[in-house]
Formats: sequence, C-alpha cells, structure tokens
Amino acid sequence: MSTLDIARLPDAVAKIVAAAVPATVVLRVDRLGRLLEAHGDASTVKLSGLGTGKSVFSQLPMLEGSDLGDRNHWACIDNGAGHAVDVDTVPGELDDAWIVLVSVEDRRLAQQQQQLAANEARLMNQRQQKLVDQLVAARSELELRRREAEEALTDKTRFIASMSHEFRTPLTSVIGYAEWLSTALDDTAQRQSRAIVRAGRHMLSLVNNLLEQAQLETNQASARPDCIALRDLVEDIAAIMAPLAAEKGLAFAAFVDPQLPERLVIDEMRVRQILINLLGNAVKFTRTGSVQLNLSSQADQLHIEVADTGPGIAEDDKGRIFTAFKRLEGSQRQVGSGLGLHITLQLVKLLGGSIGLDSEIGRGTKFHVRLPYQDAPAEIPAAASEPAAATTGQHLLLAEDDPDLVQLLQLYLARAGYVLTIVDNGRDAVSEALARQPDLVLMDFNLPIVDGLSAACQLREKGYSGVVVALTGATLDDDRLQAVEAGFDGFIAKPIRMPELMATLQALLA
Ligand code: ADP
Repeated sequence: MSTLDIARLPDAVAKIVAAAVPATVVLRVDRLGRLLEAHGDASTVKLSGLGTGKSVFSQLPMLEGSDLGDRNHWACIDNGAGHAVDVDTVPGELDDAWIVLVSVEDRRLAQQQQQLAANEARLMNQRQQKLVDQLVAARSELELRRREAEEALTDKTRFIASMSHEFRTPLTSVIGYAEWLSTALDDTAQRQSRAIVRAGRHMLSLVNNLLEQAQLETNQASARPDCIALRDLVEDIAAIMAPLAAEKGLAFAAFVDPQLPERLVIDEMRVRQILINLLGNAVKFTRTGSVQLNLSSQADQLHIEVADTGPGIAEDDKGRIFTAFKRLEGSQRQVGSGLGLHITLQLVKLLGGSIGLDSEIGRGTKFHVRLPYQDAPAEIPAAASEPAAATTGQHLLLAEDDPDLVQLLQLYLARAGYVLTIVDNGRDAVSEALARQPDLVLMDFNLPIVDGLSAACQLREKGYSGVVVALTGATLDDDRLQAVEAGFDGFIAKPIRMPELMATLQALLA
C-alpha cells in the first residue's frame, strides 16, 4: 500500500481525504470490487489482508451488493472489523471506483459516551422524578392525615365543650339552689346544703379540667386574667380539700401570706385548677402526716407551695411525671389517669409561670409554682358577696328555656328589685324586647326557635339600644368572640355565681 498523496487523487476523492487525513485510507477498485491500488495506512481503519486483484468485499462487507458506479456515503458504520468508519464511494473515469475510508472510532466512542451519559442522566431524572412524586404523595398524605387529626381534635373539643355546657346548666341549679337554701335553713341543713355546693363546685372543676385538656390539645386555650379575691379562692379550695384530707386522717392547712394583696388580677379558673390538681395529688398519694398549701408573693409573682409528707418522688422521675399518662410505680393503686400534672404544667406555661419540685423518697414532696400577676386596679369594685340590695326597679328581660334556672334567677333577681319579663325562646325575646324596651336583656345562647346569637343580632339590627348580656355554658374563646360580634355587651358563664351576676348587672346598668 502506497502512502497517501492527495495530489494523485481525483478531485472528488481528494476533497473527502483532505478533511480527514491522517486517519484515511483510499482504495481504488474495479466495478467488481477488486483492488487496483491502495493508499494510506490500513491499520488506522483496522483493515488487513488487502491484496491487489483481490475483492475488497470480504474486508468491507457493508459494500457488498452496492453499485460502485454510484456515489455513496455511509456515516459511522462498522467496517466489519469492529472499527467505526465513514465510507464514501466515488465512481472513477475508467470503469473503476474509489473507496474512501475515514476512521471515526474516536467520534463513535465519544458518541457512545455521550449516549451513555445521556441514558444515565435520563435514568437519574426518572428516579429523581419518581422520588419527588413519592415525596409529594407522602406529603399530601401526611397533610391529609394532619387535617383529619386536627378536625377530629376540633370535633372532640366541640363535643366536650357542648357536653360541658350540658353539665353547666343543671350545675347552676344545683349550686344556686343549695346556696340559696344555705342562707334560709337551720344550722344542720345549712351545713348539708353547703356540702351540696362544694360537691357541685368540685364536679364543675372536673368538667373544667376536661374542657381545659381538650382546648390545650388544640391550642385554643388562652389566659383570661380577671380581678379575683385570692383568700376567697383559697377558702373555696380548702373547703373542697380539707374534707378529703380528713377522710384519710391527714392534717390539712392553708396559709396566705398577709403581704399578698386582697385582690389581684390573674386567671382564676386556671389557678383554681392548678391548686386542685396539686393538692388532689398530695392528698391522694399521702398516707400519713399532712398536706399544706402556702401562698406568698415573691418578686412580684404569686408563689404557690404544695407540700406533703407522702412517698416522695425519685430524682430520675421528677421530669417524667409531667408527661401525659405517666404514672409512677406504686401509684396504680390510686385512681388517676396520669393527666393531672401534664395539664398543670401546660396551664402554668399558659399563664407565663414556672413549676418545679423538691422531693425525697420516704419524706414527702413539695411542688412550687410561680405565676406572674398584676395588682387589681383601684376602680374595680369587689364583687358583692351577698346579693345586691333590692333597690333597682329596672326592667329586665330574661330569655332562658331551663325552667329550674328561670325559677332560681327569678328568686335572686326579684329580691334585687328588678322587674322581670320572662320568655323561653329567641323569637319571643326579640319581639318582647322591641315591644317593651327593657333596660337589659339577659339571654341564653342555646334558645329554641331562634338561638341567642341570632336573636342578639336581630335586636341590634332592629335598633334595640339597651344592654344585652349572654348567659351561657359555652366557654370557648371563639364563643365569646362571636357573642361580642353579635352585639352582646357582657358574658356570664354557667354555672352562674349569683353574687357575680348581680355585680355584673349593676355595673352594666350603672
Ligand atoms: P395521676 O395523679 O392521675 O396519676 P398526675 O399527672 O397528676 O396523674 O401525676 C403523675 C404521677 O406523678 C402520679 O401517678 C404519681 O406517680 C406521681 N405524683 C404526682 N404527685 C405526687 C405526690 N404528691 N407524691 C408522690 N407522687 C406523686
């Protein structure tokens, strides 16, 4: 094979060769494919066994059957020896033909690499897409489950709220009548009726605990600070706890530091629950000795201490007891659910305070709680501990469908000197209020025919300008918000504490 000399090639062949030198081999063959001459380095295109006069088709099988009298081009084909070549056939002038073979193995390898990389990229993309799809599906599934769980929780809270409403209405009658009787009976019957009041209030606190837990679970709880008489609260709590301690032969004592103000602003219901939960545990787990409650003021915070001489709590358990449903070994003999301290901790946090404990096994436990409070503003009058004097003569429309509660309210309101109109549904409340223009409408939320909220809206729309007060067992914050939006001026929660009701009415009508 001679070296490749472009000058000796026909123009059409030379053009092809010029672009590809040096990896080019040029063969001249007759029309039957027999080699006449060969130029270039045959090894660059992996050709061997060429011989003048011998057919090239056995080395170049892709040309077999093609008409060498035509000009043809094959791009990047296998030359039969596993080597990629571009092949051109150019007819010659003397019944011959030129075959130009250009090695394109590098190009093929690059293309193969590219193809491989492209395939891998496509595969990666597919996998990535699949993962993204799975992630998206898992996220929307999670979102769905979260929403379902939230809805279930909200439903549960609503259910508990409406159940506690159902409890509050009869409890108002139980506590209210017992309070009324305790001022009218002889000593023994007074003591008995006070026991009914205590039991009623204890039941109410259980209902409150239930509602509280449901609200805390759905983050619906918020602090509701109010002006309270701390000593009255402690007396109430002591009246519940002292008999329970006495039943077990435990000494019970409650001290209020005289430095503490008579009245202060704090969320009474939550403080009451914290005290009942801690004292309830102290009495429950202590077999002999005493339970003590101490209230003092330290660094402008209310400092509550509940100390007992019970079994004590080991160092390792001190953190764990605040976990929901966690009960320590040995506690199973006592009734309980393991929720009390969990709720207590959340309530303390809700009020911006802190809780801790000192304890020694066999010697007892002392829980301490610190809660911020504000001093009561001077202009807030103390709630009357006795029903207000009968001096008003003001006209009051009472809309309430529970006949027992109506009778009880009648007793107190009539004694206070109010002139009463009574209706038992929302539709009559609206028509009577518009016709008689009372000074104040005291209206239950859950009234038949037209409910209290809609009735209040209608009253405001139709121009009633007197005071409208809601009377309700509903205690959720958004119930209160709805009441304000509907046009209520005040909100009295059931069970109604009569002295508070009288004070509120007096304040609103002043
Ligand atoms: P419960 O009283 O319903 O069991 P709590 O959440 O109130 O649930 O208390 C959790 C656990 O902490 C109790 O089961 C008990 O093991 C322990 N504990 C709470 N208070 C005391 C106490 N004063 N003395 C000893 N152990 C207590």
